[in-house]
Amino acid sequence: MIENTPLTELPVAVIGAGPVGLAAAAHLIAREIEPLVFEAGPAAAAAVSAWGHIGLFSPWKYNIDEAARDLLEPTGWVEPEADQLPTGAELVANYLAPLAATEPLRETIHTRTRVIAVSRVEKDRTRTPGRSDTPFLVRTRNENGAIDDRRVRAVIDTSGTWETPNPLGQAGLPAAGEPAAREAGLVSSPLPDVLGRDRAQFAGRHTLVIGAGHSAANTLLALGELRGAEPNTRISWAIRSADPAGVYGGGDQDGLPARGALGTRLRNLVEKGDIAVHTQVTITELAYADPAPASATATGEVAVTGSTPDGAVSLSVDRVVPATGFRPNLDFLREIRLDLDPIVEAPTGLGPLIDPEHHSCGTVAPHGARLLSHPEKDFYIAGMKSYGRAPTFLMATGYEQVRSIVAAIAGDQDAADKVELVLPETGVCSADIGSSCDAPSVVTVTADSSGCCEAAPAQPVSIGIPTGLEHGRSARQEAQ
Ligand SMILES: Cc1cc2nc3c(=O)[nH]c(=O)nc-3n(C[C@H](O)[C@H](O)[C@H](O)COP(=O)(O)OP(=O)(O)OC[C@H]3O[C@@H](n4cnc5c(N)ncnc54)[C@H](O)[C@@H]3O)c2cc1C
Repeated sequence: MIENTPLTELPVAVIGAGPVGLAAAAHLIAREIEPLVFEAGPAAAAAVSAWGHIGLFSPWKYNIDEAARDLLEPTGWVEPEADQLPTGAELVANYLAPLAATEPLRETIHTRTRVIAVSRVEKDRTRTPGRSDTPFLVRTRNENGAIDDRRVRAVIDTSGTWETPNPLGQAGLPAAGEPAAREAGLVSSPLPDVLGRDRAQFAGRHTLVIGAGHSAANTLLALGELRGAEPNTRISWAIRSADPAGVYGGGDQDGLPARGALGTRLRNLVEKGDIAVHTQVTITELAYADPAPASATATGEVAVTGSTPDGAVSLSVDRVVPATGFRPNLDFLREIRLDLDPIVEAPTGLGPLIDPEHHSCGTVAPHGARLLSHPEKDFYIAGMKSYGRAPTFLMATGYEQVRSIVAAIAGDQDAADKVELVLPETGVCSADIGSSCDAPSVVTVTADSSGCCEAAPAQPVSIGIPTGLEHGRSARQEAQ
């Protein structure tokens, strides 16, 4: 890239080729702006592939971006059935991988390339004069460790939160020994494929699941099924609340049959004694015998210590599954002027709309470039990462975010301000699966720059997922 290329002729960097990053690239192509997509994983949608065995709650009709569809249709792509619920793996195989392979996108995606810093050329964050007319500098590192600096006109950070799960200890901090236990492979990914890829780590072993969201429930049910086939498999479950009933939901009375069934199955496993529940636990230490096990499938004994109102509890287990939610990685944005909500670490205007302490349910008002902007002109955080620590993000929200952002980057402020979103309103997007929200419906929400909104109910649908809770925390429990 020539150093004095005019700003508007430079590409736009997209960080992360997940569903929202790919949608951003598709919208850029639709506006004839060159995207430069950096993906840390070996292929597009690396994060979704990691939880590919999990079933989505949103049917296909909410999972496909409009600009992405325009790229796919001429390729002979067959659009999946609108009302079917895909797994993560099907989302990749039937939509994201074909999208990444389309001719206009293929050349723009740089896999195995991690963004390690974003700044402005020759301007650290303290330098103001001429800042907004200065290209961004995006520093990347590839799999061989080679560092590259790229100049771009704008940056859309859609790097998600999958790589940065919340720590297991109290106060948002790692417990003593937790980093070493993670390093040794004794703490699994947040959603291990217990019955498939990762089976050997869990079969005939003792696993401790920590947390109380949907992720915990999914893993516990899979472990229960594994125990049916491999009776030596032992399952413990630690939560911070006093009673796991909140996670079971309403059973047969539940407005969402799938959620009710999930909760009922979990309750049965606990009542049968297949799962040993430890309540009101705050994890204080993870200790393991040195040297660490040589491989992820080796048996490793971890002594997990927690405090409870009745004194300390200690469990000796082989694997710990952290189902404690996620947080955004802001480290590589140190030189960028951000404006983030001090509570959820979402853009300031968005934070109060999604704070799980206050908004466990219902539709988030549609939002686009204006709400997602930062003091750093032409820099945006979108997708899962834009929700910071809030767990209720939906792909459909992200698609509308990047449509609006790309319009703003292109200078089409009218289109950027006219945000319109068909979003399912649901009880499942609450802070835990046991909350008692209204039965879901679909609402079409529109807003213009004046901020006025309206909503119109449509047919019922089950959708939405809280991907994890910080050690079982929920708005309802905190309030008790
Ligand atoms: C188990 C689970 C189930 C879900 N179910 C639903 C559902 O049913 N419906 C729904 O609408 N939403 C669902 N979500 C929420 C959300 O829509 C998804 O997480 C979705 O994948 C978010 O898309 P994204 O593009 O923002 O981020 P991601 O899919 O996380 O993609 C981010 C990408 O960025 C890459 N990356 C990270 N850091 C860097 C870096 N520094 N440099 C370069 N690349 C980087 C990652 O490898 C990844 O490929 C679910 C989430 C989870 C975890």
